[in-house]
Amino acid sequence: MNKKTIRDLDLTGWRCLVRVDFNVPLEDGKVTDDTRLRAALPTIQYLAERKCPILLCSHLGRPKGKPDRKYSLEPVGAHLAELMGRPVKMAADCVGVEAENVAAGLLQGEVALLENTRFHPEEEKNEPAFAQRLAMLATYYVNDAFGSAHRAHASTEGVAHFIPGVAGLLMEKELNFLGKALQEPDHPFVLILGGAKISDKIGVIENLLTRADRILIGGGMANSFLKARGLSVGDSLVEDDALDTARALLEKAGGRILLPTDVVLGDRFDAGAADKTTGVDSVPDGWRIMDIGPETVRAYEQALDGAGLVVWNGPMGVFEFPSFAAGTMDIAAAVAEVQGTTIVGGGDSVAALNQSGLAGKITHISTGGGASLEFLEGKTLPGVAALQDK
Ligand code: ADP
Ligand code: MG
Repeated sequence: MNKKTIRDLDLTGWRCLVRVDFNVPLEDGKVTDDTRLRAALPTIQYLAERKCPILLCSHLGRPKGKPDRKYSLEPVGAHLAELMGRPVKMAADCVGVEAENVAAGLLQGEVALLENTRFHPEEEKNEPAFAQRLAMLATYYVNDAFGSAHRAHASTEGVAHFIPGVAGLLMEKELNFLGKALQEPDHPFVLILGGAKISDKIGVIENLLTRADRILIGGGMANSFLKARGLSVGDSLVEDDALDTARALLEKAGGRILLPTDVVLGDRFDAGAADKTTGVDSVPDGWRIMDIGPETVRAYEQALDGAGLVVWNGPMGVFEFPSFAAGTMDIAAAVAEVQGTTIVGGGDSVAALNQSGLAGKITHISTGGGASLEFLEGKTLPGVAALQDK
């Protein structure tokens, strides 16, 4: 990594503004999945050990630029306090007197959580004056919000123009693992792509087409590839304006892209849909492709055998419906078996992986869906670019 991290500076005793990704799901004022809170703990712990007063900030949901109790970070702070076994002070605003008072009152190693940065419209507009008000709160800026690094907002990018910014430990870990896929993948490098839409992931295929040895396609995006090959896909989800691109990619890939040879069909998009398995050359009208079939799973298992690096983004089927979850679960099992490095990213993919119970067997589970895709597309993440070079 060519950016400085919290380990490259002596931060001892300095107040740090730490941008975390605490955009977590809430239900009835309780955090229902605290993966992102746990992921931020190493950085918080590291800074606390170095006696830094720690000011955490994050966005939560889409409050439209004004305070809205529904999007308050208060329950998140309470959950974090529980996880750490020590108090987390709350500031009712992320800038201004409220924030300044909490910041000034923080003792060495104490932790405070500032209120939702998106309660201010200037956050998403990345207004310099607002970024400067955030910067005034601390001596150093630490960005540990990998999941938001693809956005140039005041708390993810702008603030680093006013105080020195470095990467937190989660950010460093994410960039190191994903960077390996781009720069020095262990071969064979197998990329598995699925999910609903091909348009979301065309950039990733284009950028990795020559780096990956094999690209296994599943999910809704496979339908567009199959149709581009001239096959009839019945009522399946297809993006007709992506067919030309799909055709061009298949040509360029010269056999490195693997497509399903059999599929599980549903007669409607519903958990209770009737299902049947067929070859991809016999999908009748009135039916839609909902999952990859068992023959495809076997072919993909073979393609994964002996892989040095696997990157997986996007479920192989509509795994939310039990009749169409087998393809995703079988691929999860196959990835878990791989001896090489395995990286899984994407909100739904990670949910599927957790459902499979095999998450513990994956080398790295990325906390950032959109950010990990943009990184794999070869795009510069603004939140990373703004940090100090090594
Ligand atoms: P991730 O969040 O891991 O990046 P995506 O958001 O791209 O994944 O796609 C996940 C969604 O794709 C899931 O909700 C799943 O139901 C859907 N999906 C997978 N296969 C199909 C299919 N054959 N037809 C329609 N939707 C599909
Ligand atoms: Mg998703």
